[in-house]
Amino acid sequence: MEDCVFCKIVQGEIPASLVHASGSTIAFLDVNPRARGHTLVVPRRHVASLLQLSDTEINNLFGAVRFTAKRLLDELGADGFNLVLNNGEVAGQVVPHLHVHIIPRYNGETRGVEELFKIDEELKDKVAKMPKELIGNLSDWI
Ligand code: 5GP
Ligand code: ZN
Repeated sequence: MEDCVFCKIVQGEIPASLVHASGSTIAFLDVNPRARGHTLVVPRRHVASLLQLSDTEINNLFGAVRFTAKRLLDELGADGFNLVLNNGEVAGQVVPHLHVHIIPRYNGETRGVEELFKIDEELKDKVAKMPKELIGNLSDWI
């Protein structure tokens, strides 16, 4: 879809640091990270809402979520993660291309869920400097 920032990332017109790519999905680091490894997983097909996906597409999307979350746990040593899906403007969806946030969580953190969406400015700088391609071991970078 024209003017959709995530469609442009899917098409390679806007650079992004990729964590995973499959035939129907891509996963890339959020430019405003709320945690080390904060990643967005999106279907390649432009839809705004989860409700527009078929069961097969949902399987593919959440398969990619699982794969990506495992990478974040394995490579960054995350101990858990929050999944957030803001579906609809009223729910806080800013980019109208469906995306699942994976926010890695690390033992020792005291943040409650209400503080989860605070941007980490130091991480933001690091992510901005990362290569805009499929990344090797994430811990080499962030
Ligand atoms: P929403 O509030 O729609 O669930 O979240 C949209 C997310 O997309 C935000 O966390 C924002 O930082 C991220 N985002 C917006 N534009 C870009 C972009 O061009 N590249 C990347 N990597 N992330 C983006
Ligand atoms: Zn789109």
